[in-house]
Amino acid sequence: MRKTENTILEVKDVVKKFPIGKNGEMTACNHVSLCLEKGKTLGIIGESGCGKSTLMKVIMQLEQPTSGEVIYKGKDITKLKGEELRQHRRNIQMVFQDPTTAFNPKMKVKDIICEPLLNFGLIKKSQKEEVAKKYLEMVELPAEFMDRYQHNMSGGQRQRIGIARALVLDPEIMILDESTSALDVSIQKNIIELIKKIQQDRNLTIGFVCHDIVLVSEMSHTVAVMYLGNIVEVIPSHKLSSLAMHPYTKTLMSAVFSLNMDFSKKIDVADNDISNKIDNVNACPFRDRCEHAMEICSKENPKLKEVSKDHYVACHLKLNV
Ligand code: SF4
Repeated sequence: MRKTENTILEVKDVVKKFPIGKNGEMTACNHVSLCLEKGKTLGIIGESGCGKSTLMKVIMQLEQPTSGEVIYKGKDITKLKGEELRQHRRNIQMVFQDPTTAFNPKMKVKDIICEPLLNFGLIKKSQKEEVAKKYLEMVELPAEFMDRYQHNMSGGQRQRIGIARALVLDPEIMILDESTSALDVSIQKNIIELIKKIQQDRNLTIGFVCHDIVLVSEMSHTVAVMYLGNIVEVIPSHKLSSLAMHPYTKTLMSAVFSLNMDFSKKIDVADNDISNKIDNVNACPFRDRCEHAMEICSKENPKLKEVSKDHYVACHLKLNV
């Protein structure tokens, strides 16, 4: 992805490996490069274990990359340490998948929301109720919720508290890691609408990780498709349904069900098991499941190439552009 004047965060050639067993290693992120643009949402789609959450943890500085850089406003944040790193954490906040485990069950909502502000010494304890009221209003919950505990709320209400807590430090970037996946579809829609409204009001930049390609395309301005640690396609979301080119993205799109779909048409299915294919970084990661695989696909991992404006594909096929 090309850096622009609106790029707020740049992931540059990030590799993240984890040791397995005595001598083995697994590459969770394989030379990943991406840009987050100010006020826009970058969606990351991929199946479980593809490395999307690891990538977000690297951006959050919850994981250190094996190599590569994460540049925020011109500074490589992977080099930050101590107080400088602590202060930087205010800039990028995260909403976790399961708010039930993210919060201390003994804390009231007002304490959950205000804890980050108190940690940074930005408010006094006497201001907690005033601040909690403001942020509850922002996430469209009544002020009375400030005295509740998390077990007195529904999943959707808890996730709204998670969003309020992430916003309280006024971050420039918010990472949503499968943050709507545990919710009912109707609640999911309400939360997505709320996030979009907050994004507009605050010009917030969002990294949205999800395994639901329809939800990602609805929520995001740009979608990055990840497969076994590799970014295989980056595409503006409005082009996703009609102009996706990578065989894996096409398989994902073909598997989306809708009431108006042509049920006589064959649904593409990616064959084979992926479990033992994660360690060869010098071949196309999709080769064992791809019906178009050629000799070169086992010898060379294709690089992302721009095929049209803001649309990048990593594939050896002669793409029809
Ligand atoms: Fe398929 Fe080869 Fe393209 Fe990989 S590089 S997606 S194996 S055609």
